[in-house]
Amino acid sequence: MDEFKDKVAIVTGGASGIGRELCRQLGGHGAVVVVADINRQGSEETASSITGSGGRARAALLDVTDAGEVLKLIRDTAGEYGRLDYMFNNAGIAVGGDARDMDWDLWRRVLDINLMGVIHGSRAAYSVMVEQGFGHIVNTASGAGLFPIANSTPYVTTKHGVVGLSRSLRAEGADLGVKVSVVCPAMVDTPIFEDATYPNLDREKFLANIPRFLLNDVKDAVKAILRGVSRNQGIIIDSRYGRFMWWTYRYLPALTRLGNRFAARDTRKRFRHNREDNGQQAE
Ligand code: NAD
Repeated sequence: MDEFKDKVAIVTGGASGIGRELCRQLGGHGAVVVVADINRQGSEETASSITGSGGRARAALLDVTDAGEVLKLIRDTAGEYGRLDYMFNNAGIAVGGDARDMDWDLWRRVLDINLMGVIHGSRAAYSVMVEQGFGHIVNTASGAGLFPIANSTPYVTTKHGVVGLSRSLRAEGADLGVKVSVVCPAMVDTPIFEDATYPNLDREKFLANIPRFLLNDVKDAVKAILRGVSRNQGIIIDSRYGRFMWWTYRYLPALTRLGNRFAARDTRKRFRHNREDNGQQAE
């Protein structure tokens, strides 16, 4: 991983989870890391943990939904260090539940952070990188960007968008010196599940039902991600489980359909109850 030494990287969502670990491992490999997040305290803690162990990092307050802020951070960073080697567009939030319970505010919030946030970072970094003739954009999507997942429709929509954006930009940037990868983790042990919005769901029950044995350790996930980045893989999947899920969707789609039917069982139950209630009212 010597290729990260002395390189300049911006990581959005660097205050927590995958982003925080990306910052720490990049810092450990000798990169200069800009830890960008809407959570000021969290990003300062990440940056201090890197500088405290001899690395180079600084925190930057950033809301990825603000295109102007994102552009400014990218231009300022490239100006200050004379280059921008890596742009990790990683910030994101999760939502889960019946599509009927996702109101417009929630749809817009998820689209703004997970999709527009990545577009803002990709667009601004791409221009800077094309101009300098090198650079690598690494966008965090999800397994949810590669196959359908019931009861997570807005999240899945944004992640499919991030995969499409990244794969297209990769094709476009290849001859201009700009690499683009998309990261599609399956399930990683981070605070994202606790912090997610679950409209009309029993939150505790939902969290208790997460199959914890499928959660990849965040350190292992990030090691796999950085290995994929160093090999310039187009699609980076962090775990065997993630690769299995993607393989299943492509070659045994009936299994994915079965899994989704299982995931949507409460939604079907609610649909049947509503119909029965309506039937009783009509009688
Ligand atoms: P996390 O909740 O631990 O970290 C997300 C970070 O994004 C937080 O620090 C948060 O403050 C930041 N953030 C949220 N809104 C922001 C905004 N408007 N501007 C700037 N920063 C903002 O979650 P995580 O699990 O580390 O997720 C990181 C990425 O990985 C997300 O894009 C997520 O969708 C994706 N992902 C996670 C998993 C998983 O199982 N954990 C699986 C697949 C994909």
